Amino acid sequence: GKKEDDMANAAALQVLKEKFGYDSFRPGQDQVIDRIMNHENTLAVMPTGGGKSLCYQIPALLLSGITVVVSPLIALMKDQVDALNDNGIAATFINSSITFQEIDYRLDMCARGEVKLLYVAPERLDNENFRHQLDALPIDLVAVDEAHCISHWGHDFRPSYLNLQTVVQELHSHPTIIALTATATKRVAQDICVRLAIPQSGMVNTGFERSNLSFKVVRDQDKDTYLLEYLKLNHDQAGIIYASTRKEVDRLTNLLAHKHFPVTAYHAGMSEMERNQNQEDFLFDRKPIMVATNAFGMGIDKSNVRFVIHDQVPGDLESYYQEAGRAGRDGLPSEAILLFKPQDLQIRHFFIDQSEGDDDYKAREYGKLQTMQQYANTGECLQQFILRYFGQTGSAPCGRCSNCLDDREYFDVTIDAQKVLSCVVRMHARFGKVVIAQVLGGSNNEKLRTNNLTDLPTYGIMANQTQKQLTGFIDFLTADGYLQPTEGQFPTLTITEKGVAVLKGQDQVRRKLAAKPTQSRAAAS
Ligand code: ADP
Ligand code: ZN
Repeated sequence: GKKEDDMANAAALQVLKEKFGYDSFRPGQDQVIDRIMNHENTLAVMPTGGGKSLCYQIPALLLSGITVVVSPLIALMKDQVDALNDNGIAATFINSSITFQEIDYRLDMCARGEVKLLYVAPERLDNENFRHQLDALPIDLVAVDEAHCISHWGHDFRPSYLNLQTVVQELHSHPTIIALTATATKRVAQDICVRLAIPQSGMVNTGFERSNLSFKVVRDQDKDTYLLEYLKLNHDQAGIIYASTRKEVDRLTNLLAHKHFPVTAYHAGMSEMERNQNQEDFLFDRKPIMVATNAFGMGIDKSNVRFVIHDQVPGDLESYYQEAGRAGRDGLPSEAILLFKPQDLQIRHFFIDQSEGDDDYKAREYGKLQTMQQYANTGECLQQFILRYFGQTGSAPCGRCSNCLDDREYFDVTIDAQKVLSCVVRMHARFGKVVIAQVLGGSNNEKLRTNNLTDLPTYGIMANQTQKQLTGFIDFLTADGYLQPTEGQFPTLTITEKGVAVLKGQDQVRRKLAAKPTQSRAAAS
């Protein structure tokens, strides 16, 4: 009832103040804690830095039994537990880094009631013996951190997470479940709820918006030049530069070191010692610029990261948002910049192609890559684009991103759009953007001739534009939803409802351009 809720609130607030030294809850925290104290399974979706940890740490202190925290961040468990111990909170962890003897010892401590929070790696749950040992403990709450790892639709699926379902069901103490994540599309959120018996109404979503982050896409520029200029203008600032391959990380690190920037590097090809050393140099601002592959950063809690630059495009928007989100955890203005070169998509194609997943998996990955490509090409607000992808509609343009701040003029490109769209319709969804651009540009090649594409009335109607301009324009129309690519490695394009409205003259297309586009109508007539 209401009265009990208020009491739970008061108790939670007291723990917040006394144990953690904070005066008030962040958005969503109190709601999540209330639900847990009412034994209601809950999915908490909060942005990075939103304060997810307290959502289970405070209940852990209020409940009489043990809270088990499942976390994939093995490398950080010790630090997390140390930090809690420093706050006078009884916590311990079990993962592959400790001996069997030590495991037994720690489980005994749990059984004696000397531990409030027990952190475990998901792989532990693959072990039946360990599951039995867990079952002997009075577990009141199971917290599943990085809960998107349970879903195939997430960007970081981990098979061990699937075991959670059974483990939690089998526990005799019937613990409450709290799942936490900063990245969940609607699909992923649904998956988490189904697998962990969380009711649809059990989601507390504070939204994904990061109001202190400014997103930026940089296209058609020499990336190295941009990077060097940027770092010169922002010296003394801490930042992360992500690249897709170890080779590129090494190249960039050398480039920046050569120009005397305080740079260090991190990728999986380095020795553990070297990685730890470099990570510390970064964390303690001895070398505030980190160049890394995506092996770096999970759970890194460096609050003063002022910029995250992606030198190469990541494979999906969830990864991008998570990596970019490592900027500005302290709430101060920070930048997330994507240096986009269409050719970089080839590396991603290669990764997907070489991956071990089945065809379904690959189709999903190609689909996600397309979304990433659309992000890079959209003319809309970048924050809105991201939020929409995560299912959050109705937000206003952010006013901070490179598209919102793009002060080039809008031009009416409806007629050009109609040419492209009608060409797409005539090609019956059988071809991708390169061939479409060739038809519009009037290329004279074998493939077009054998497919009778040179006979189309739209053949050559945009011959005054280069292939690069044409594919760029098609990318723009795709990113802004006038065209829809199929999933798969070689997507073909079809027209959307929004595109049909343009063809029928019911809607206009506007695009920001530096110079007035050439009116190809005159050229064509
Ligand atoms: P997340 O896991 O959601 O990325 P954390 O749990 O690591 O975020 O919290 C981010 C930071 O915010 C931490 O330094 C944490 O101590 C701080 N924090 C959490 N809750 C509050 C609060 N209610 N008031 C002030 N600071 C908070
Ligand atoms: Zn914006």
